Amino acid sequence: MVKLAEWQGKSVFRKYGVPLPRGEVAHTPEEAESLVRDGKVPLPCVVKAQVLSGGRGKGGAVRFANTAEETRSAAAAILGLEFKGEKVRTLLLEEKLPIARELYLSLTLDRARRLPLLMTSARGGVEIESVADAEIDRQTVDPFPGLTGYEKRRAAKVLGLSGPQSRSLDRVLDSLWKVFMTEDAELVEINPLALVGDALVALDAKVVIEDDATFRHPDYAEVRDDRTELEEIAREKDIAFVQLDGNIGVIANGAGLTMATLDVLTELGGAAGVFLDLGGTDDPKKVTEAFLLMARAKPAAVFLNIFGGITRCDTVAKGLVEALGGVPSGDRFPIVARIRGNSEAEGIQILRSAGITSLSDLRASAQAAVEAARRRA
Ligand code: GDP
Ligand code: MN
Repeated sequence: MVKLAEWQGKSVFRKYGVPLPRGEVAHTPEEAESLVRDGKVPLPCVVKAQVLSGGRGKGGAVRFANTAEETRSAAAAILGLEFKGEKVRTLLLEEKLPIARELYLSLTLDRARRLPLLMTSARGGVEIESVADAEIDRQTVDPFPGLTGYEKRRAAKVLGLSGPQSRSLDRVLDSLWKVFMTEDAELVEINPLALVGDALVALDAKVVIEDDATFRHPDYAEVRDDRTELEEIAREKDIAFVQLDGNIGVIANGAGLTMATLDVLTELGGAAGVFLDLGGTDDPKKVTEAFLLMARAKPAAVFLNIFGGITRCDTVAKGLVEALGGVPSGDRFPIVARIRGNSEAEGIQILRSAGITSLSDLRASAQAAVEAARRRA
């Protein structure tokens, strides 16, 4: 999933003709102030944190300014924030428009019906999850004709737009549809879509590009700045590795088992700090590499939960034991293992020779991992 920051989403929108406020990106309070002083951003303006989480409006990450000085202090305040765990490094400054109404508009995929889905609501400007279902209109769209007059008229009606306003909506919808299809998006969302006079303007932009289509859009590889340094290294080595907030390192194989493992740990009061999905590999070297990467994240304990199939238990055990030699002694951590399935006996034997006991029960082993991490914390 390639999730674009607002300013990146808006630069995509601009290419396709979605109407936007005038705006510029800044990285320091000084830069923000000079954008205003040089007239590149008209006053009054809006200063917005460029983070990937939503709810910035409520969370103090969107501020208004009437003067260059206010712009500078708003920028300084926002750059000092850590918004939902993410440091703010980039700002978007935009002219502040007088908005009459805030609407919601998005295109996404209805995976059950395997069709694009147009969602509209007259209650924009708040997170869509908090809008009552009855106030969101959903229309599936046949991808071949694309959005037709029918869907557009219904959207206009739902949004309470007529005359020149509904013609403005038609243009927004045409542009947004082109973004969605051409960029292989899995979500394009405008919230709020603001009514300014008789014109509609996208005040916010959320664009998520389908992972499987990124090969068609090499530009987005650079755009992706939501990875940690270790995640970046992992990606280059084609290792499924994600850093979380907890302190237990989880090594599992397959997305399902990995997620289930995280759930069990959470249920038992633990918290995963990193997870590594070994997927299907038959190369112990790959396991070693992945494990060393996990060690660099300095987990308090590691829980290895493997179901041997294509990935054999002995492959994992070999790779892991090999890796242990490469972990600096100061960074050592207890390992709790649970390996079942293909070549289980060999795997258990290899682990035992390295002093690692393998348990067979999921809850018992998860519990042991949680306790080991707690002792070290
Ligand atoms: P989010 O809370 O992270 O989704 O951030 P948004 O970009 O949606 O901004 C939050 C709110 O700030 C919007 O719902 C608007 O009410 C307000 N806002 C943003 N830009 C403008 C603007 O140009 N003019 C006015 N009046 N309000 C704005
Ligand atoms: Mn928004």
